Amino acid sequence: MRLFDLHCDTLTACYQNGGSLCRNSGDLDLKRGRQYGPWCQVFAVFIPDTLRGAAATRYARRVLTFAREQEKAYPQQITFVAHREMLEQATKGERCVGILAIEGGAALNGKLRNVQRFAEQGVRVITLTWNGRNELGCGCLTEGNEGLTAFGRAAVREMVRFGIVPDVSHLNESGFWDVATLTEAPLIASHSLSRAVCEHPRNLTDAQFKELRRRGGLVGLSFDEAQLGAAEPEAVYRHLSHYLELDGVNTVAFGGDLDGTVLPEAWQGIAIYERLGEYFLQKGLSEAVIEQVFFKNAFDFFTNTLQSAENEVQ
Ligand SMILES: [Zn+2]
Repeated sequence: MRLFDLHCDTLTACYQNGGSLCRNSGDLDLKRGRQYGPWCQVFAVFIPDTLRGAAATRYARRVLTFAREQEKAYPQQITFVAHREMLEQATKGERCVGILAIEGGAALNGKLRNVQRFAEQGVRVITLTWNGRNELGCGCLTEGNEGLTAFGRAAVREMVRFGIVPDVSHLNESGFWDVATLTEAPLIASHSLSRAVCEHPRNLTDAQFKELRRRGGLVGLSFDEAQLGAAEPEAVYRHLSHYLELDGVNTVAFGGDLDGTVLPEAWQGIAIYERLGEYFLQKGLSEAVIEQVFFKNAFDFFTNTLQSAENEVQ
């Protein structure tokens, strides 16, 4: 089975716990992920809301360096890709195809030049906020509904310029619409479910989903119990069906949030995707739709969105 997942916190968890991407006791590692082929995985550096300023930037740099060390230590197991050609080439091989992300624009420390620096370190997705407030704007658990700051607007433009996909998961609603207004670039919500199915501030309204769909973006289904409504395959299916009813067949992907949320033990971490695929088949989804959601939508998105190595902005 082919798998392309838009969000996990495994890299950060391994860095924090002194663990290894290759083998660990968390939700996923490179050994267990080999049940999928090809397997593309976005690995996020998570910036908690307690971390701000230069310390946030330093922390992000350290975790990104750790990612490269892991890549060197396990060259047969993982390769991080930063350009279109690398993605296409790596997907033909056996290794996990990693894409680096930062969850929390606080890592920029309010400095535009950090966008380029992170791009040079291979970061290709930045989630603008976590749940709280930072220099870019306000997360979905911030009081009030302030939109993006002037720095937030400039940072989004800079991300687009350097080939970094802005990720609107965790962002509050007015921030979302500010991003949508200031750029026509494709956007993703890497791990966000549907508010029509489960009323939760982290979930997207139908209008937000349609806006992401209209501009060729992606929405990743997350496995967080509070956002799902219940930690069971049926709940994942309910959110997926709703997105499909909104003509989202080219928009929906997975962003399971593995190692970032508590999964039921019976799901056995990354093994759950295979079982969800079987479950969706039983529910009557076609193999073609399942293939789109589990792999093709995200693969096509990044193939179209990642800059070519030749055209990279310097
Ligand atoms: Zn998250």
